[in-house]
Amino acid sequence: MAMELKDKRVLVVGLGKSGVASALFLKAHGARVTASDTKSGDELRNEIPVLLDHGITVETGGHGERTFREQDLIVVSPGVPVDAPLLQQARSLGEVVIGEIELAAQFLRGPIVAITGSNGKTTTTTLTGEILTAAGLPTLVGGNIGTPAISLAQRAVSETAIVLEVSSFQLETIQAFHPKIAVVLNVTPDHLDRHKTLEIYANAKARIFENQSPNDFAVLNADDATCAAMAQRTQAEVFWFSRQNEVRQGAWVHEGKILFRRKAEQREIMELSEIPLKGAHNLENVLAAVCAGVLMGCAPEKIREAVRNFKAVEHRLEFVATIGGVDYYNDSKATNVDATMKALESFPANIHLILGGKDKGSDYSVLDDLLRKRVKRVYTIGAAAAKIESQIISPKSGGPEILRAETLENAIRKASALAQPGDVVLLAPACASFDQFKSYEHRGQVFKEIVRGLAQTLPSNQAATM
Ligand code: ADP
Repeated sequence: MAMELKDKRVLVVGLGKSGVASALFLKAHGARVTASDTKSGDELRNEIPVLLDHGITVETGGHGERTFREQDLIVVSPGVPVDAPLLQQARSLGEVVIGEIELAAQFLRGPIVAITGSNGKTTTTTLTGEILTAAGLPTLVGGNIGTPAISLAQRAVSETAIVLEVSSFQLETIQAFHPKIAVVLNVTPDHLDRHKTLEIYANAKARIFENQSPNDFAVLNADDATCAAMAQRTQAEVFWFSRQNEVRQGAWVHEGKILFRRKAEQREIMELSEIPLKGAHNLENVLAAVCAGVLMGCAPEKIREAVRNFKAVEHRLEFVATIGGVDYYNDSKATNVDATMKALESFPANIHLILGGKDKGSDYSVLDDLLRKRVKRVYTIGAAAAKIESQIISPKSGGPEILRAETLENAIRKASALAQPGDVVLLAPACASFDQFKSYEHRGQVFKEIVRGLAQTLPSNQAATM
């Protein structure tokens, strides 16, 4: 039974996209809604009129102490720390605190495929959605990307399959959220500024299994030790994916083909050569999506068709142009060191790497081995430049040359001047973007515009852009 909202007093904390959608949903279901954010009224000038129009009370520029009292329910945005004092206090008063994913889960009736992990969520979620759609299942895709889950709840009918990207922050505020299929792609250090330790972070991710039963499925990466250990923590039937070894149940690679096995039944899904995405990490994403597809009942030929037609999601190791024989790739979404490592592993050598932005408490020295073997030059930008330069291997110790470029534009100009035909210029910055850009999307757009600008300064036979 969905929760009863009529005449309930509900507070929505945080007016991002999911907060606004939650407030409107709650109001439409008869709740008495207050929305509160620490941002100023000016910063929220686009959001406020819609909320007021719907009769929602809006508080900006901080939360009044009284705002959190006498609420029946508090819906928090993933951007708000779960242990914020006002929330602790609300819980001690017996108020229920949940996130938007939980609110949505109360109203979603169809099977949920939930996908989490440190990296690859968006790619895998998008691909899984395309596989289910190709197989003819009524499907909606959203969550941490694109459309908030609560907006899907409004559109879904009882048989709609829901494919959701869920972040560790969203999983921290679930109660009854119950995916039919829970996929964990990998667990590598990220967001440690907020989660404090890798263990706490992994525990948050493992909550994806919390309400699963033996009739449900957990899909886990056999090649990732932290992820593999999670098999102990689920009631669901476990399916593995691996690009290195054969698995007992699930998807793996054998003689250039993807195979899938469930108990005694084994099927061939497709040839590896048909996968249009670059990088071993994307093979992992494909294997995970294949598992989800088969477990949702999709025919192998439909899965194959969807994978073959799939295009890299924007800003994820996205090819931009070849200019003067140099390839430019936009991986602005590589906002942590693991994603940067995966990007570096996708090119054998001769990389000009743009690193930097806003630091998230990362250890950049883990890049050293790849820097030594594959990178010609590092160009540092943004607030994290000095920290990165102090941590990564120095040229004296066998590392690539390091150039302080400060800005993205300068980095691209320097790299394009120094790169030779056959080289790769790669934006895979291992940092958040907020020091110099509005978002990683903005950073990726700027990268693409500058690169395309370079292309125009060359004769057309030397430049190929997408
Ligand atoms: P997320 O939604 O988890 O951030 P994305 O699909 O947006 O995942 O990819 C984020 C970054 O991680 C990109 O730089 C991408 O190239 C890289 N990446 C994608 N899949 C994986 C994976 N399975 N393992 C490691 N890195 C990955």
